[in-house]
Amino acid sequence: MTFSQTTPERMLCPCPKQIKWHGGCLKLSGQADLIIPNDISVDAIELFESAWRNFTQSKIKLNVAGRRDLPQNSFLLAVGGKIPATVKLARDSASVLTVSDAGAAACARSETDLKYAWFSMLQMLACGNTPKAEFWYLPLMSMQDFPILKFRGIHLCVFPETSLEFVEKIIKLAAFLKFSHVVIEFWGMLRYETLPELAWPQAYDKRQVRQLLHVARQMGIQPVPMFNHWGHASGCREICGRHVLLDQNPALEPLFEPDGWTWCLSNPSTLALLKNVRVELMELFGKTDYFHLGCDEARSHATCPECRKHDSPRLLADFLNSVNDDLKSRNVRPFIWGDALLEAGKWEGYIATSRQDQRTHEALDMLSRDFIINDWQYYVIDKAKTATADWFTQKGFAVLTAPWFDSVKYGDGNIKTLADIAIAQNALGMLLTTWNTLPTTIGGMATAAGAMWGGSESLKYYGGITVLAAYLRKLRGGSADLKNAGWRKCEVDDSSLL
Ligand SMILES: [Zn+2]
Repeated sequence: MTFSQTTPERMLCPCPKQIKWHGGCLKLSGQADLIIPNDISVDAIELFESAWRNFTQSKIKLNVAGRRDLPQNSFLLAVGGKIPATVKLARDSASVLTVSDAGAAACARSETDLKYAWFSMLQMLACGNTPKAEFWYLPLMSMQDFPILKFRGIHLCVFPETSLEFVEKIIKLAAFLKFSHVVIEFWGMLRYETLPELAWPQAYDKRQVRQLLHVARQMGIQPVPMFNHWGHASGCREICGRHVLLDQNPALEPLFEPDGWTWCLSNPSTLALLKNVRVELMELFGKTDYFHLGCDEARSHATCPECRKHDSPRLLADFLNSVNDDLKSRNVRPFIWGDALLEAGKWEGYIATSRQDQRTHEALDMLSRDFIINDWQYYVIDKAKTATADWFTQKGFAVLTAPWFDSVKYGDGNIKTLADIAIAQNALGMLLTTWNTLPTTIGGMATAAGAMWGGSESLKYYGGITVLAAYLRKLRGGSADLKNAGWRKCEVDDSSLL
């Protein structure tokens, strides 16, 4: 990217692949005409209108009109009585966007890519510094854009402390940063019909969640359901000692291994319950390409008297393959974390949790290659450390690398490195994990978005966390309520003063 005379490149995230600045600006005032092909979806039109209102403070009226002769997945934004020429998509490009003195024009490979072009335009839209903000500017430019990684995901946890307002903010922000998928994991915070004890009394209901999923789809980000099918069966963080099912109903104990942490895979009632959960989640989430089964850190796998009669890796592989058969019948592919499929002690510098007494890594060769391994490696900050991703790839599995933004220890090196590894390996993509630290390390979202789109090199133009804050205010509107403004509940955390 070259530098512009008129536009702060730092407002663009992720950085576009090819961009040319033509010098000067298009000035907007009063109104603009959005001309779109007749077959564009109502959802897309609503998104364009609502985002435009938010980004122009409703001061530039947007008149929308259909035109039959426009190419599919395109738009023209006509300004000042002129109509810009249509534009053509370059080979290997996903979207093209130009701004001339007649307005803006875009064309894209898909409706989602057209939404991305709209987002890029909004990111460049700047308010004139007149007292009433009645003028807005777009730089004269042209860009061709496409992401390197196909799957650009973020894993989002809904804890008892997580408000739906916060979840909605993050979904909107992720979509605006052109993440392709959001994996949503409810920690005892979604009510199921199959078993009430899967949720705390204060959990959200499906109607509330359905609204969030609609927001996600309209913004162009695909929601992916997640439910832990093996370890983490308590639905709670282990450091808090709670168990969403057993604290509410101890009689459910046979569903689990003796410590309650892992589902008992030899109990048919467990398998039936997990199937019902999948059915409910897939009904709630609607059409989805993937389902995340979790499957990390199952330390107590096969420790009950009945499971001990089985071959440990075979018990795991048979279970997972039967779940895959169920998902496959619905054209859904499963994600699983990769740590328990790596033998502890054999992978220095990597996370590997299969112990000698469990040998769950031996299940790897027995698994269907439909599984997509999420290789979470939070200590890898060297691009040459590709051994685990190589291993899974050589075994015939599609791989997502999975970093976490532990900013205290590693800065954002883990995110950049795992994005670059995914790109170098030609992997399906990357899944950014956020766990309990999202409000304090939100800047990692921009790092991940940029690195997944164009590699870590492209991040040198990114303007930092204030850019994210500006996006969020405009996407969602500001808030006079301190707790709902930005992404933190408080301005200063008590613990940070100690
Ligand atoms: Zn068992």
